[in-house]
Amino acid sequence: MQDDPLLSVRDLSVRFHTEAGTVHAASDVSFDVDRGETVCIVGESGSGKTVTSEAITRLVPQPPGEIDAESVDFEGEDLLTLPEKRLRTLRGGSIGHVFQNPQSTLNPVYTVGRQVVEAVRLHRDVSKAEAREIAVDLLDRVGIPKAGERFDDYPHEFSGGQTQRVVIAIAIAGEPDLLIADEPTTALDVTIQAQILRLLRDIQDEFGMGILLITHDLGVVAEVADRVVVMYAGKVMEQGSVFDVFENPSHPYTKALLECLPGRRNAAEGIGGTLPDPTDPPDGCRFAPRCPHAVDACREGDQPPAVNVDGADDHVASCVYYQAGYDATVVQNAGVAVATDDADDDTARTDGGERDD
Ligand code: SF4
Repeated sequence: MQDDPLLSVRDLSVRFHTEAGTVHAASDVSFDVDRGETVCIVGESGSGKTVTSEAITRLVPQPPGEIDAESVDFEGEDLLTLPEKRLRTLRGGSIGHVFQNPQSTLNPVYTVGRQVVEAVRLHRDVSKAEAREIAVDLLDRVGIPKAGERFDDYPHEFSGGQTQRVVIAIAIAGEPDLLIADEPTTALDVTIQAQILRLLRDIQDEFGMGILLITHDLGVVAEVADRVVVMYAGKVMEQGSVFDVFENPSHPYTKALLECLPGRRNAAEGIGGTLPDPTDPPDGCRFAPRCPHAVDACREGDQPPAVNVDGADDHVASCVYYQAGYDATVVQNAGVAVATDDADDDTARTDGGERDD
């Protein structure tokens, strides 16, 4: 019998009630993360990746946010209905978070060592002296050279890559079963980025934890993912194993994203067009205004349901062309020219996904 997933998210939606209207940041998002597995959520800026990851442990402030879901099951507990006290125990304990922008995660007026010790003592019943020993060991394991000597240094005395390592040390201080890492390498140069990704893999091997990694960078996905969830405008467009998604991308949006990889056709221009207004998403498929294959049925009702695309159980896409009566080869075999939402400007483009969500 197959084990239950470590994390199982079903129909998670996040809305923000603002003066400009209700922002539909994430809608009906479903995915699993198994033990020892890395699942990447990928998509452009504004696709709802970060808000989805933060809603899992109810870090989205309510109000103005509003989270609902069929369930967000973590090791048999529904995170959306857990009492706040129990949830606080899980956050930083069984569920570690690495947030965007490591410098803002650390408190500049406390030494790095003190901050790691605090994280250790919050989740482990150890003395101050033991916590210090564990903290030095954690800093050593994440690759801070001469960790004992750097213990009393302040965050500003660490480089960007080292700061990210410290943040990871804090995130794993509670020996988590699940690590949620939001763009952990965005601000780093490619060499440091590769080191941090390798570090996450090593820690995963050591702890056997599941990792949910949020990124706009398909290069990072190719590097670390076991499974991929492709999001656009708050909806899941496609998900499957990293092999399925890279070898047989099936949703027009996934294909468009892949064409933005370095050396590919749209590497310089990015995806044409812009994301829809999140306060007024289009009927039907949210990608329809930018999709070159859109037909009338794409603009009716809700996002098409996720259906199996190639016989692989867990490879699904939300596109009408995979429904009965349509010829899936139209999108499967197609190139990736993307319609723009401005007929006079076929060079319109997004920001290429470089901004935070
Ligand atoms: S063909 Fe229709 S349903 Fe499929 S991605 Fe394009 S707009 Fe969406």
